[in-house]
This record gives sequence, structure tokens and C-alpha cells, in this order.
Amino acid sequence: MHFNRNNYSFKWDDIGDITLGRPKMGELTNVTVYRMMQYSLRSVLNAEMGAQKAADIFYRAGFLAGEQFYFNRLQKNLPLNLFVAQLQQELIDLGIGILRIEDADTEKLNFTLVVAEDLDCSGLPVTGETVCDYDEGFIAGIFEAYTGKPFIVKEIDCWSNGSRVCRFSAMAK
Ligand SMILES: [Zn+2]
Repeated sequence: MHFNRNNYSFKWDDIGDITLGRPKMGELTNVTVYRMMQYSLRSVLNAEMGAQKAADIFYRAGFLAGEQFYFNRLQKNLPLNLFVAQLQQELIDLGIGILRIEDADTEKLNFTLVVAEDLDCSGLPVTGETVCDYDEGFIAGIFEAYTGKPFIVKEIDCWSNGSRVCRFSAMAK
């Protein structure tokens, strides 16, 4: 997935001051609202530019989010085991999913990650295709920011291709 991150302006501040803006409602919404946004937007992008280009856009957006997420929400320069533990906890705290590292080659920086109860796809109708392009990019953005090396992330299993978890292969290029 080749793209120039500098073409895109997204930064953490774009999210705004939620405490200020939502004193009563706060941070919480529900998964339906999140998916309503994602799948309505996806249907428009699919129709306007085709599924592959739409998936590519979700990947890029996820990448920008992952990178900003790492720099703004995670403690920097941790050893791998503590980095993973911190990431697992954050993903639970934010209601994104339950992360497990299934396989790790720490020399080559190749990982297999499993996410249970994934925010984007768990419970989706089975279509035979993986849909977590945004998550692929999100993981790539986080791992790239953490390691300083470019990463390629591909979803192998997804609720929507009949699996009950999402499984991602994350490889340093
Ligand atoms: Zn998935």
C-alpha cells in the first residue's frame, strides 16, 4: 500500500475537545452509530469509485488514525512486551476489541494478531470477504510509528468471511 502520508492533514487535534464540547454526553456513543457511519460511507465510496479504491481509502484513513493514536495515546519507546500489553489495554478501554498476539517473529518483525469482538465487523453478515481495511491501516500505522519501519498489514480472517475473530498478518517491509 503505497501512499505519501504527508498528503494528508489528519492530526489528533481534529478530534477536538470532547470534555468541553460534551459535558453531559461525554465520550460514549454506541457501536451502531459507529457502524452506521462506516457502512453508509463505504456504500457511497464503493458506488463512486469501486470496492478496491474504497478499501484503499479506508486503509489510508486507518493508517493516519493509527499513527496519531500511537503518538497521542500510547507511551513511547516501550519494549515489545510492554508495548503490546499497553495496546491490548487501550483497545479494551476504548471498546475496539480484544487483541492477542498469536505469533511473533521479533527479528523480522512479522506478527499475527487476532482481534476478538472487533468493533468494525463482529456480527456482520457473512459475505465471504474481509472488511476490516480500516483496521489493517490502523495496525500498520501503530506498528510503523512504534518500530520506525514500514509495515504491510493484511486481514486473513474476518467475521464477514465466516470466521469468529479477525486475524491480521503484520509484516515489516
Ligand atoms: Zn474483520
